[in-house]
Amino acid sequence: MKYLLVSLLTVLAVSCNSAQNSASKTISENLSRTDYAKTITAEELKTHLYIFADDAMKGRMTGQKGQKLAAEYLRNFYMDEGIPSPIEEKNYYQNIPASYFERMSDPKDSENVVAFIKGSEKPDEIIVLSAHYDHVGVDEDGNIYNGADDDGSGTVALLEIAEAFQQAVKDGNGPKRSILFLHVTGEEIGLYGSRYYTENPIFPLKNTVCNLNTDMIGRVDPDKTDNPNYIYLIGSDKLSQELHDLSEEVNEKYINLELDYKYNDENDPNRFYYRSDHYNFAKNNIPVIFYFNGTHEDYHKPTDTADKIEYELLAKRAQLIFQTAWEVANREGRITADKL
Ligand SMILES: [Zn+2]
Repeated sequence: MKYLLVSLLTVLAVSCNSAQNSASKTISENLSRTDYAKTITAEELKTHLYIFADDAMKGRMTGQKGQKLAAEYLRNFYMDEGIPSPIEEKNYYQNIPASYFERMSDPKDSENVVAFIKGSEKPDEIIVLSAHYDHVGVDEDGNIYNGADDDGSGTVALLEIAEAFQQAVKDGNGPKRSILFLHVTGEEIGLYGSRYYTENPIFPLKNTVCNLNTDMIGRVDPDKTDNPNYIYLIGSDKLSQELHDLSEEVNEKYINLELDYKYNDENDPNRFYYRSDHYNFAKNNIPVIFYFNGTHEDYHKPTDTADKIEYELLAKRAQLIFQTAWEVANREGRITADKL
């Protein structure tokens, strides 16, 4: 069952990609960043997410079979795309020993999944794009928590962003700085995967320019049904005014979502700033932006399913993250934590 599913997924991924590659090659060799952003489509996000949040993934509980299957899906994607691992050839897993998951009752080994696009001019300066790919598994009654929004949405956004950057690389327009795609495990049980990464970084933290973290970007907050063209940004101005300003400029120029900072307020009781993986970077003084749609009635319920995702909106939000990463990667100077 497992292998059958994976090979089916591979076929789907490959057929989408080859159609896209031949289409973009006929356009021009001089594609712009907007052309690359447009390769991030609702349709491809949907194809990935229906598989990634399928019942076969069993809610992707850290250390369990569904999480391993999800990790294989990510690894196979990067291999098919020709995007290398930063660890060693064909090894996309940063292994985390069971003993690291202290608060779990029956911990098992787990893994972060990593892929890497090397910068053409400043390869030592790293931009980390992250999303957690674990979720909360299956409950006692056998209900599967598919976690389509949390965080299937961020996970598939990362895949499409990686594909867009890789297309730019193929055309000779690859980013000047390097980009690490970091799919972390163990988020739901306490931000373990991102903490492990920052304690055992593949690239020195001092060379890590920023972290753009995506956790839940496929739905609409009930408060926003009248204006769903939004995304909550958290943390963008906490360490770096430069990053915040850059993010605003990029959005205004290329995307035009409403950037809502409601949850960026220090006094917000939800304390979302401390509740997803970017925080492990921020506490190491690395500038971050956390992209988030807010909570909704299906949050951490078995009803967080792929059919409820707003795919056009997910694509637009993923394009914003792509454009922001593009700007950080390609601008002349490295952004700094200018508020420290
Ligand atoms: Zn999450």
